[in-house]
Amino acid sequence: QFPFGRRLPCDIYWHGVSFHDNNIFSGQVNKFPGMTETVRKITLSRAMRTMRDLFPLEYNFYPRSWILPEELPLFVAEVRTMKDSNPSWKPTFIVKPDGGCQGDGIYLIKDPSDIRLTGSIQSRPAVVQEYICKPLLVDKLKFDIRLYVLLKSLEPLEIYIAKDGLSRFCTEPYQEPTLKNLHQVFMHLTNYSLNIHSGNFIHSASANTGSKRTFSSILCRLSSRGADVKKLWSDIISLVIKTIIALTPELKVYYQSDIPAGKPGPTCFQILGFDILLMKDLKPVLLEVNANPSMRIEHEQELSPGVFENVPSPVDEKVKVAVIRDTLRLMDPQKKKRKDAHLSFHTYLNFSAQLQSLRAGIAGMKDKQHKHHSLKLSLKLKFYLKLGLCQSPERAPGAGEEPDAAPSPEAALPSLCLKQVFPKYARHFSYLRLVDRVAALFIRFLGVKGTTKLGPTGFRTFVRNCKLSNSNFSMAAVDILYIDITRRWNSMGIDHKESGNPGMCLQAFVEAFFCLAQKKYKALPLHKQVLSLLELCECRLAGLHGKRLVWGCG
Ligand code: ADP
Repeated sequence: QFPFGRRLPCDIYWHGVSFHDNNIFSGQVNKFPGMTETVRKITLSRAMRTMRDLFPLEYNFYPRSWILPEELPLFVAEVRTMKDSNPSWKPTFIVKPDGGCQGDGIYLIKDPSDIRLTGSIQSRPAVVQEYICKPLLVDKLKFDIRLYVLLKSLEPLEIYIAKDGLSRFCTEPYQEPTLKNLHQVFMHLTNYSLNIHSGNFIHSASANTGSKRTFSSILCRLSSRGADVKKLWSDIISLVIKTIIALTPELKVYYQSDIPAGKPGPTCFQILGFDILLMKDLKPVLLEVNANPSMRIEHEQELSPGVFENVPSPVDEKVKVAVIRDTLRLMDPQKKKRKDAHLSFHTYLNFSAQLQSLRAGIAGMKDKQHKHHSLKLSLKLKFYLKLGLCQSPERAPGAGEEPDAAPSPEAALPSLCLKQVFPKYARHFSYLRLVDRVAALFIRFLGVKGTTKLGPTGFRTFVRNCKLSNSNFSMAAVDILYIDITRRWNSMGIDHKESGNPGMCLQAFVEAFFCLAQKKYKALPLHKQVLSLLELCECRLAGLHGKRLVWGCG
């Protein structure tokens, strides 16, 4: 809400859906440019595949996936090969439309030939994925975990994970998929938005019963059964960090395009929703990343047929209020100056004084606008009270009274629910950040500010400056490589910011880079080929610009 118009700069901009404002020159925005595109099912699957190609063991937490329609032949061929080599393998696959959410358009199949090719696949690309047939069950029900992750900064990378999340339950007892039960969504899909329509959905005020519970209540239960909950948390943290490492290259390309370096602009942060499934052996599997996780703390209740009312949902409230409150605490621009106490105190006084005078004036007056304003203020006050950013009337000093000593708002708040995991554990994961370095090269040669695609001249300059062409790899071959890969990527009809631009997108550049690395360092495993080429390029570019070398020359 901008009660005084947008002329004054804000400390924090809280956008509803995505980063979409080119008129912000300072402060912090709660969305990264390009995040929605980067976590779409197809883009996420591609990014995970690239990482899995480099580090197969480290990235086995994402189900094997294929992109439809372009990889249908590959999907059919790979499944056939796997079945031939292991005849007892009876897989199930899940087909998910790209850009879908809330279980929309999802279905299960037993065989590649069951893919519904008519209509939708052509117009709406999808991901087909190995279905996890043996999930961990609680009370005989399948459930998934929604964990909130704060990406506090992209450069340097800073990641926080909420200590508690939500567990969302199916509403029909689980059975392993058979042709007979494949279509039973209440048994196989954990989406709240679907299961709420089942007659078995249980709204519970308690954190450890019902169809939506806290994740901590599940952990308690697992721990009482002797499960290694510490190991589970460490696996989840590792899954989150690795996933974000897979997403950062693309995000950096969008970032430099929307907020070019050297120009005034805001910094960004974002709360992400990670959907995770636990397998029977407690191994966490990533289902998807949500750029706009629902922050609703109420649910609809049907009072009588067709009459709905919003009622509070204590489980949502417990988890989500803490996430938003602590995100604001971490992003608080005033934190260093320690002005919070006065700010929250004055915010409260300001609101309650305005409310009082409005309420007084409003009595007996039928001015609609006045009433609307009063309602908005009381909602704001309620929200601030909930977040703990201001004091309730009982605890607040009397109007006009200044607090004796500025109370520390941190002291009055619960301890942070958001736990820093990166850079805290950076040393365990930094070796995975190869594509990040490839993206840095890509961005360096983009040339035109604001673009996300590399032109043929940019690619040639990259090859020349890094001295990658020789008698075996002529500049003509470089051009052919550029045209081949770029044409293929642009023909895939990817929903990209610059779909009309014929240039090379980051993923295409990564493919070209891997190709060059394979050519040059044939005998090595892929990640070593890529690392060797990266070191060579970085070294030659540093030499070219007469900079001090800070890394070895491969
Ligand atoms: P949406 O964005 O439509 O919710 P998801 O990828 O989250 O799509 O899938 C919906 C639901 O389907 C998940 O909540 C989960 O219960 C189930 N699901 C998705 N992928 C798998 C999988 N690979 N194995 C088992 N269950 C899955």
